[in-house]
Order: sequence, then C-alpha cells, then structure tokens
Amino acid sequence: MINDFNYLKPGTLKEAFAMYAEHDDCKVICGGQSLLIVMRQGMIAPEYLLDIKHIKELNYIKFDKKEGLRIGATTTHRTIEKSDVIKKNYPVLVSMENKLASIQVRNWGTIGGNIAHADPAGDPAPVLIALKAGVKFGGAAGERTMPLEDFFVDYFETALNKGELVLEIQVPLPEPKTGAAYQKFNLLESDMGVVAAAASVTLNGNGKCKDARIVLGNAGSTPRRIKGAEELLVGKALNEKLFAEAGKIASEDCEPVADIHASEENRRHILGVLTKRMLQKAFEEAKA
Ligand SMILES: Cc1cc2nc3c(=O)[nH]c(=O)nc-3n(C[C@H](O)[C@H](O)[C@H](O)COP(=O)(O)OP(=O)(O)OC[C@H]3O[C@@H](n4cnc5c(N)ncnc54)[C@H](O)[C@@H]3O)c2cc1C
Repeated sequence: MINDFNYLKPGTLKEAFAMYAEHDDCKVICGGQSLLIVMRQGMIAPEYLLDIKHIKELNYIKFDKKEGLRIGATTTHRTIEKSDVIKKNYPVLVSMENKLASIQVRNWGTIGGNIAHADPAGDPAPVLIALKAGVKFGGAAGERTMPLEDFFVDYFETALNKGELVLEIQVPLPEPKTGAAYQKFNLLESDMGVVAAAASVTLNGNGKCKDARIVLGNAGSTPRRIKGAEELLVGKALNEKLFAEAGKIASEDCEPVADIHASEENRRHILGVLTKRMLQKAFEEAKA
C-alpha cells in the first residue's frame, strides 16, 4: 500500500527548484512508472511528491544538425518513438523505444524518469551512451552537463545532488558512415531485459573503423562500456572474426549477477553473442 503523502504541483521549473529545495523528504514524480512500484512495495515512503509532469519547459524534442538532438526530461517514451526527426536521424532510438515495456507504460514513462531511476536494466541508457549522449541536470544552485556514461554511479544511483532534476538529454548528430544497433534479451516481451547490448560503428574514407562504442545493459551496477573491445576494432578493416573477439572481451569484462531469470554464466554468454551481433548490424548500417 502507498503511504500518505503531500502533493506538490509546480507550474514552472523555477517553482519546481524552489519547492524541491524547500522540502526535505521529497521525491520527484513524473510518469510514476518506476516510482509508484517502489512506493507500493513500501521500499520508500516520501512525505512529499513533487509532480514535474506538467512543466512545459521540460517537454520538447528539438533538433538541428549543429546542436544535434535535445530531448526535455518529461518527454514520454511514446513521443520519442513517434518522432519523425528521431526516426530519420537516430533510428536506433526509435527501435529501442518500440520495445520498451508496453504502449501504456510508454505513454506515461518519461526519458528523464528512466535515466534518473538508473536501473542497470533500463533500455535507453546503453543506446544513448553508444550515441555519445550527454545529460543536463540542475536545481536552484545552477545547471551542469556531463557525458551520460559518467552520470550513473551505482545501482539506482546517479550524479544528481539533493534538489537537482534531470533536465535534458543531448545527443550529437552521428558522423557520416555511422551505424548503431541495440538489442535486449528478455524472457517476456514488454519486460525489462535480462541483459542488453548497444553498439555504434563509424567508418572512415577507406572503409576502416574510425570509431566504435560498445555498451552493455544489466551487466553490472551501471551501463558498461567495453573499452578493450572498442580499442580492438578502431583502425581495422572490420570482419566477423573481430566481432567475435569483441564479443568474447565483452562477456569477460562485465559483472552480471545471477537471479531467478538467468545465471551469471548465462548472462555472460548472451552478452557476448549480443555484442557480436550488434557490431555486425551497426557495421552493415555504416556501410550502407
Ligand atoms: C510494466 C513495466 C515495464 C517496464 N519495462 C521497462 C523496460 O522494458 N525498459 C525500461 O527501460 N524501463 C521499463 N520500465 C520502467 C519505466 O518505464 C521507466 O523507468 C520510466 O521511463 C520511468 O519514467 P517515469 O517518468 O514514469 O518516472 P517516475 O516513476 O516518475 O520516476 C522514476 C524515478 O526517477 C525520479 N525522477 C523522475 N523524473 C525525474 C527528473 N526529471 N529528474 C530527477 N529525478 C526524476 C523519481 O523521483 C524516481 O526516483 C517498466 C515499467 C513498468 C511499470
């Protein structure tokens, strides 16, 4: 059962910052798709809920070729999935959103809430990190921006300080000849992934690998870049053998935990397979 709480509904970002700073035992709520679950389970019982869902300043998708993509924190998964500009320039984001939970959840859940919740099995983070995304966050004391990969500190823990909100996700326009791919392995469709892998590959003029990113989901306490495998690929003419080697490195350089859904060994194996497949897929797209 959910505890009694006081409901705060700021109309502007400035009001939200002020209310958040003023109330000590206060949790932000946006779509409620993760928060209400932990409240219902009695894991937290905040005295105040600060509802930021209706703050218009945080609800937008903006794009230009120089600045890239900027997504306001309260933008829902469904809006991202349906965005023409994202479909055209970041198709991997659309295919990821399309497999996140169900339409009902995507209609309520937001990108800011997903990132702030910092579930290591969350879908958007690995894809966004593979796309070199940044995150803007802040509060009454000011705003900061950092690479999204540095934002995650531990299981369900981020770089947010007390009184700070996630404000915006920023994704640069991928370089020419870049491909990106993401896949999660889940037992039930519309559920969180048992594990997941995202990859992006950029080719240079002579078809060799200029840049690569490999990011695993639910392979440790935070989304995990596999830098050893990325370094293996850069400067080389890519092929299936290299992707298999990269997959092997990924399956070794991770810290998945066993639970009722899969053993640690099983997770490592799937992560290796997914990494190889996502690299191949990203490579094909980069060549096209
Ligand atoms: C049935 C079901 C299936 C799901 N499946 C998936 C899945 O497949 N993949 C996946 O990634 N997720 C999944 N989720 C989780 C959920 O969809 C996401 O985490 C969702 O995006 C959360 O967004 P929200 O706006 O609802 O956040 P809320 O639940 O409102 O908040 C989540 C957390 O973030 C904080 N918060 C919210 N917004 C901000 C902000 N702007 N700044 C700072 N803190 C903030 C809250 O205080 C809370 O701690 C699933 C959820 C359900 C219920």
